[in-house]
This record gives sequence, C-alpha cells and structure tokens, in this order.
Amino acid sequence: MERAVHYLDRAHDTGFKAKAFVRALDVVRTTPADELEARAEAGTLTDLEGIGDSTATVIRQALAGGEVEYLVELETRTRVALTDDGAVYRQALKGDLHLHSRWSDGSATIEAMARNAQALGHDYMVLTDHSPRLTIAHGLSAERLEQQLADIAVLNEVLAPFRILTGIEVDINEDGTLDHSDDVLGGLDVVVASVHSKLRMAKQEMTERMIRAIASPHVDVLGHCTGRLIGKRDASTFDPDYVFAACAAFHTAVEINSRPERLDPPRPLLELAVQHGCYFSIDSDAHSTGQLEWQPHGCNRAAEVGVPLDRVINTWTADELLAWTREQE
Ligand SMILES: [Zn+2]
Ligand SMILES: [Zn+2]
Repeated sequence: MERAVHYLDRAHDTGFKAKAFVRALDVVRTTPADELEARAEAGTLTDLEGIGDSTATVIRQALAGGEVEYLVELETRTRVALTDDGAVYRQALKGDLHLHSRWSDGSATIEAMARNAQALGHDYMVLTDHSPRLTIAHGLSAERLEQQLADIAVLNEVLAPFRILTGIEVDINEDGTLDHSDDVLGGLDVVVASVHSKLRMAKQEMTERMIRAIASPHVDVLGHCTGRLIGKRDASTFDPDYVFAACAAFHTAVEINSRPERLDPPRPLLELAVQHGCYFSIDSDAHSTGQLEWQPHGCNRAAEVGVPLDRVINTWTADELLAWTREQE
C-alpha cells in the first residue's frame, strides 16, 4: 500500500484513485494484522470504511505474498523518464538538498524520506522544512527546529553511513531579510532561501529583495527562483543578470527545481545562470517519498542547457559540500 502511494506520488497523481490509496493506507496502518488477514480470507475487506474493490485486491494480493499486479503496472507506468544525457547528471548526484517532512507540509516522516533517499542511491540529504512565516505549511519556529535537530542526531546514528544534513527552506521576507535569525541559520548545514510571498512585486524591488538574501553569508541555495507554477502562476519579474551575478559572487547555488509544476528556472534563465558561472543544485523539493524520484526532471534540463557537471554542488560528497557552505560563514 505504501509502494502504491509512493508510485502515485511520483506520477504527481492527485486524482480520485491516489486519494483512495492514501485513505486505504491509513486504514491498513490502524487495523491489526490478524484482522486484515481474516478479512482478506473471508472477502470482507471492503466492509472497512475507506477500502474499495481495487484497494482490497491490492491488500489481498500483498497478504498472499505473491506479485501484486496493480503495483507492477503502476511501477512501469509512473517511472520518471530520464534522457541519456540526463542520466549522466543523475548518476553523478550524491544527495538532495531540498525536501520536506511531516514537520512542515510534507506527508512522510524524516526517517521514511531518508530511507527512500538512501534507496535511490544517495549518500546524504538535507532536510529543509519551511520557516515560521509560512504558517499554512506549519513552518518551524526556532524551538521546533531545535527539537528537529535532536531527532536528526538520533536518526543519523541509526542510518549511518547515510547522513541527514540539517537545513531549512527559509522564506525571503519582502525586504530581503530572512525568516530566521543569523544565529539559527548559522547553526544549520545548508540553507535554501525562497520567495513564497508577494511574488508580483515590481521588478526592481524584487531584484533588490533577492540580492539581499543571496548576499547573506548563511544562504547556500536560491530555491525555485521565479516562483512560477506552470499553467497557474507566471514567473516573478526580476533582473536576472543582477541576480545571477550576485549568486556567482556570493557562492549561492541556483536551484534547478525538479517539481513538474515548477521546473524552475525556465530554460532561458538557466542558460543565463550558466553564462554567469553560477553553482547549481538539482533538487526534488519532495513533499513525499515518491517525489524524491523527481530529480531526473532537473537532470534532463541541466543536460539540455549544458550546466557544467562540476558546478552542481550535490554531485559533491557531503564533506565537500559542507566545506563549501561553511567557507562563506
Ligand atoms: Zn518553496
Ligand atoms: Zn520546498
């Protein structure tokens, strides 16, 4: 059931069927195993609220220990396409620098995200939940962030040699200041800074706002720089020459955001960032385990535009990455 939700997530499927599986997964989690088995045998799984015909079939086949037909079909149908050139980038990636857990608006635990990142071949991931200003996403206050850091320390002992690096996706305030103090940000391994509010700001104001954040010694990655949502929200306007020149000068990597609805920056801007000699990070911005598999979208684009592979900071080892993020602080 977990795999089904994972595959549907990676297909960015939020339709009726995907919701049915999320609901069924909850039921499976809260129903004792022997009751599930008895019901599977008696054919009464569908009497449980939240279990329909297709989810019952999956549960029955899974309990029988054989091949679950629907999962096999789903695995093939939802696989994220990777071009030959994109595969070079994907193979080089050692980590993911932007992803969320249940602590903010993600749907999975930190441990589930880490185990899936590890299964994808990563050596590390940076946990970047939201900052307090983003209240709809349960942004983390300094106190909650401190609790999270304690949890990460425990998990790191269990998951070694895989490493969870500490981080945050900090909001860039309207004046370009950041939504956490220098003290808090200075204590984290990697800081992704993103604009989430007032995206329609005038061009010059937005340019100044972004550059102020980029110039912060704590900011390592500029998240989804235009804020566009394909088909829903236009890109913000800013002077890209100034912004990317600042990214190059202050060693702030330009994120290549792999979410299918973002694919940010758009190709022409990505080309410009390459010309400016910027660093890059190819991130999933995953809010669930299945979405961790979105990095191929960013890899395909990086290949198309000719992003220099040695400028992609998550192709580096965790120690190389940390040496780079700390040299600016
Ligand atoms: Zn964001
Ligand atoms: Zn994010």
